[in-house]
Amino acid sequence: MSILVIAEIDAQGVKAATRSAITAAGQFGEEVHLLLAGSNLEGIASKAKSIKGLSKILLADAPEYAQGIAENLTPLLKQLAPNYSTIVAAATSFGKNLLPRVAALLNIVMVSEVTQIIAARTFVRPMYAGNLNATVSAPDGLLAMTVRPTVFEAAAENGGTALIEMLTATGDAGKTQFISRELAVSDRPELATAKVVISGGRSLGSKEAFLSTLSPLAEQLGAAIGATRAAVDSGMAPNDSQVGQTGTVIAPELYIAFGVSGAAQHVGGIKDAKVIVAVNIDAEAPIFQVADYGLVADLFTVVPELTAALKQ
Ligand code: FAD
Repeated sequence: MSILVIAEIDAQGVKAATRSAITAAGQFGEEVHLLLAGSNLEGIASKAKSIKGLSKILLADAPEYAQGIAENLTPLLKQLAPNYSTIVAAATSFGKNLLPRVAALLNIVMVSEVTQIIAARTFVRPMYAGNLNATVSAPDGLLAMTVRPTVFEAAAENGGTALIEMLTATGDAGKTQFISRELAVSDRPELATAKVVISGGRSLGSKEAFLSTLSPLAEQLGAAIGATRAAVDSGMAPNDSQVGQTGTVIAPELYIAFGVSGAAQHVGGIKDAKVIVAVNIDAEAPIFQVADYGLVADLFTVVPELTAALKQ
């Protein structure tokens, strides 16, 4: 049998997180197929053919797939499922939204946020906000699985020669209507894949202070800006900037946390960062337990000083 990876796409093509899922899928030692569902996919499909590790692309090009609505994609996956041993997606908002629905409708087992594939049905996945790594085994039979993209290297964009098979669209399920999408347009790198991430917490105080304090430094460092859930919940930072267990799990080369207490749910999302730096006025803040470098200081002094020093 084969493994089916569900592609998450944007205007540029197949996202890096999906290419990480392709690498993970390759570890099963079976053929890996990619489901590319969307609208006007010609350009994206011709690029995706070259992704290393794929033998086939299943192309579902129809208006009802344009917005990645789970309710419309699920009938398609239900149809394809009998041909596969495992259905894989990256553990992003897209994958976390779609795969549980697919698993429930097919009445199959789902394993979430896999970080290691030990054998065909034995996996490692984090539990309790990353405080525990559990080895779990799933029964034989079709399995749905999300993988944590930060731990699997993204499959190369070139070097592959996948065949393309056109699928018949399954139509609009009529359950969800797309109204609009608000995309934060930014020149800065994407949070999930940025090499440098700086984050702010509740202590920034307001949306204006959050942006005016952190943006100039992010500019200097070419960094993405992340936030704690407390900062997001209080409206200081957008939802998609939340780092942590219920936000984005990241693994940058450098992570700098400004005024972040270091709650387990936040730390669970940054554990794989190569170097963690924390700036906090409270020397007892838990973030210092995971930081490689810590500075007990007021962020409102440190951030402008650091930004000015980097400008020189
Ligand atoms: P606080 O905990 O209030 O900490 C503020 C920190 O700022 C303190 O350490 C303080 O000393 C410091 N500080 C204050 N002023 C300054 C200053 N001038 N200079 C420097 N330091 C200063 N949280 C996440 O982040 N991500 C998640 O994904 C997430 N998921 C969750 C899921 C669940 C089910 C639950 C229950 C919680 C989750 N949380 C998550 C929330 C988490 O438990 C914490 O409440 C949150 O991370 C705290 O955010 P904070 O560090 O901004 O705020």
